[in-house]
Amino acid sequence: MKEERIARVEALPLRYAEPNNNGKTRHVTLVRIESAGGAVGWGEAITGSEDASIATRVIVDRGFAERLIGRNPQDVEAIWSEFRETTYWSGNGGIVTFAISAIDMALWDLAGRIAGLPVHRLLGGKRRERVRAASSIIFDTGNLDGLGRQFADLKSRGYGVLKGGWGHDLSIAFGRDPKRDVAIVRTMREAVGDDAEIIVDVVAGAGWTASHAITMARAFEPYRLYWLEDALPEGDAAGWQRLREATATPLCTGEKGWTVPHFRGLVDNGALDVVMIDPGRAEGVTGTKKVIDLAADAGASWNAHSWSSALNTAASLHLAAASPNVLVLELKPEPSPMQNDIVTDPIVMQDGWIVVRDTPGLGVTVDEASVRKYVFA
Ligand SMILES: [Mg+2]
Repeated sequence: MKEERIARVEALPLRYAEPNNNGKTRHVTLVRIESAGGAVGWGEAITGSEDASIATRVIVDRGFAERLIGRNPQDVEAIWSEFRETTYWSGNGGIVTFAISAIDMALWDLAGRIAGLPVHRLLGGKRRERVRAASSIIFDTGNLDGLGRQFADLKSRGYGVLKGGWGHDLSIAFGRDPKRDVAIVRTMREAVGDDAEIIVDVVAGAGWTASHAITMARAFEPYRLYWLEDALPEGDAAGWQRLREATATPLCTGEKGWTVPHFRGLVDNGALDVVMIDPGRAEGVTGTKKVIDLAADAGASWNAHSWSSALNTAASLHLAAASPNVLVLELKPEPSPMQNDIVTDPIVMQDGWIVVRDTPGLGVTVDEASVRKYVFA
């Protein structure tokens, strides 16, 4: 059994240009964990910025790595509890939680590979053979005609759920101008027809109050949103309740949350229809599973918000497969370095759906030479 013990831990900060965001530079930090027998598991933290990516590597290299050496990767949830309890001062969110998220994801991958089982089986079993895909794009808010053509094209490619949000130009992003916001929603609906679901995502910092959110949700009602995302700050519990009472439009938030207790607050508020979450940010596969279960118990759905690398997408796919209450898994519709280059078997949409994988671990094959081309620090 000695060959199952963890022998090596490495953190790799990556930089890439995202074609789905007009080529803008983004960052992630991957964690690679190798057993003495040579099995390898991979995890991801969706760090976003250069500084956070390097800081996450420091937390792994100087802190968690030596505590993992010699441990059995199948003790993944025990390690998760120990790491978050012993970092209560510096953690419970932020960079330490990025590190725990990536480590936890890598441990689930490694545990599955050692056991010869897909992660969804370790999570309790597969409840579905496929998960509905949502194409997820950033709006070109300055070009409504182009935006309409883009949504019509995505629908014709097979997507039955289509989301847009924010804006390539943040100064005119979705959420900043009521007239333009309504025009965008109308354009989306007209582009895809009645036979598709549409979702809009309000830019962070738009500053909507509950009253404004109610006004906007009512203006959007004729166009039948699948959900309205991030209409209010996550902490505005009273605002979410007012919004819920004033509109029939489903409400979603969660991408700014880090920890299980934070998500419990969102679920307990009762105003949300959909909680969105990323294992590469919110305490790994272990933390995300707990949030999914909280939401399921409360009668809420969850969205696999995944918009980063193939590892977060793969982890989300297994969590979705094992859960009773997933709505969709978000995909970047255009090929992207982190989705298509760093693995040899990227996760793709087929006829509007994503097929669940039964191969061991996370079920994606990392191309290490490709990963190392993106390492910047
Ligand atoms: Mg969002």
